[in-house]
Amino acid sequence: MHEFALADAVVKSALRAARDAGMDRIETVTVRVGELQQIKADLFEFSLTEVLPAADPTLEGVRFVVNQEPVRFGCRVCERRFGRPDLEKVGNPDEMEAIHFIPELSHAFVRCPGCGSPDFDILAGRGVTLERVEGRSDDGPASA
Ligand SMILES: [Zn+2]
Repeated sequence: MHEFALADAVVKSALRAARDAGMDRIETVTVRVGELQQIKADLFEFSLTEVLPAADPTLEGVRFVVNQEPVRFGCRVCERRFGRPDLEKVGNPDEMEAIHFIPELSHAFVRCPGCGSPDFDILAGRGVTLERVEGRSDDGPASA
């Protein structure tokens, strides 16, 4: 049910952004989902349409675009930046799978491919972000 709660938050934010931009109708909502976010993309897309308020004309015919943001790590020791493909070259695919489902485990499994340090930051690939809201106002196309 995690996906439904997130979808609900996305729809509410999109409505707020549309209102702030003076939009009367939302056509497309683009959402970015981090690779480390524990989310099932198909269930999330389904949830986005399920949580829509039935009688809201602002959202009639809205289309959702869900983009996945790949995870990026930044080593604190050697400042190397790396992502999943770099780790898969050196690592164990089962571990990458574990990290995907439990991001908190990443510090237990992930080592910098440059210097071997477990001390890194997660620079990208977490969370759910409302990327863009496109629609129309009575005056013409609008976006937020
Ligand atoms: Zn390093």
